[in-house]
Amino acid sequence: AEIWQSVPLAPPDSIFKLTAAYKADTSKDKVNLGVGAYRDDNDKPWILPVVKKATQILLNDETLDHEYLPITGLSDFTNGAAKLILGSESPAIKEGRTVSVQTISGTGANHLGALFLSRFYNWNGPRKVYLSNPTWANHHAIFRNVGIEPVDYAYYDPKTIGLDFSGFIQILKNAPDRSIFLLHACAHNPTGVDPTPEQWRTIAEVIKAKGHYSFFDCAYQGFASGDLDRDAWAVRYFVEQGIPLLVCQSFAKNAGLYGERVGALHLVSVDQDTASRVKSQMSVLQRSEISNPPAHGARLVSLILNDPELFEEWKGDIKTMAERIKAMRRELRRLLTEELHTPGNWDHIVNQIGMFSFTGLNGEQCKELTETGHIYLTGNGRISMAGLNTGNIRYVAEQIDRVVH
Ligand code: PMP
Repeated sequence: AEIWQSVPLAPPDSIFKLTAAYKADTSKDKVNLGVGAYRDDNDKPWILPVVKKATQILLNDETLDHEYLPITGLSDFTNGAAKLILGSESPAIKEGRTVSVQTISGTGANHLGALFLSRFYNWNGPRKVYLSNPTWANHHAIFRNVGIEPVDYAYYDPKTIGLDFSGFIQILKNAPDRSIFLLHACAHNPTGVDPTPEQWRTIAEVIKAKGHYSFFDCAYQGFASGDLDRDAWAVRYFVEQGIPLLVCQSFAKNAGLYGERVGALHLVSVDQDTASRVKSQMSVLQRSEISNPPAHGARLVSLILNDPELFEEWKGDIKTMAERIKAMRRELRRLLTEELHTPGNWDHIVNQIGMFSFTGLNGEQCKELTETGHIYLTGNGRISMAGLNTGNIRYVAEQIDRVVH
């Protein structure tokens, strides 16, 4: 018998399946609200103007070649990336106690962070990581792959379509000391529900008192509010509080570099000596998995982060994306409440932040939207705000109104 005959068929990735179904749909009205990538008002992927400029600079640079990058990546990129998330005046950076490694976008950062913890964390009992319920589905797979068992913590409250703050705090308090909690730095995926600064302060207080480790995932810095510093606030506050943490950083969304796989893992330790030992072990792990990270995207982002003019231009491009999404939030809420008088309260659409909105639509309503409305969304009622534009938003609102009635 053939050796692979007993390999079971894996289910297709649910988002990928959604996109395939959307593509196969011949309706002229079809709308894809599944995709987690920015689209402009014409429903087209958007190459940021600043990225076009940086690409041109790289093309004209005769000094560049295709040699390998160092194992931990392009240092101009990782240094700039660390300042971007931790703050340009971060004492932790100045004291040399941060470790930054270039990774295969945010997914690679999550993986390297999880792998590092699985090898070196001072485990206090079973290897577990607390993940928000719900979270980016890949988090479960990434931790399981390295032998860390995911456990849910209360996060989203379907009754309020908001944060289950007291449930979250309760689990933080009841978890064994020194547990690992994965926190979305901003623009929680899939719910779009973030703690307020006041709630973050309380979360930090409990985490500090319990000695928990904070595993921050930051896939949407700048993309959420339109302001890079504002979206980094929680991470910087935790660093300020002296809470041990790492941050996974992606440039997929905020620089529109999805396919280029640009990201970094930053770990904040207590002193320079610890940082250098941690970095040496991360290098060993990285070497055995990818040898060294890809150069092109890191060079693009490095140019943008380190050239003040390009950096300013990037901030403008980020605003363009964030503002378009916010405008779509306002318009969808307006259409549902003021024009269509759709039953229910739709304020959560403008209160949620980032790429996604958790509409509160149930599985049946989602199915109805897809089957008779040609609107593609995940069964949990999550819609990508980037899939909405001035051409389709009224149609989408009318269809939501229809399935809610
Ligand atoms: N974390 C979260 C929460 C995400 O939503 C994403 C993107 N969907 C990622 C990490 C990583 O994406 P990428 O590997 O493309 O940077």
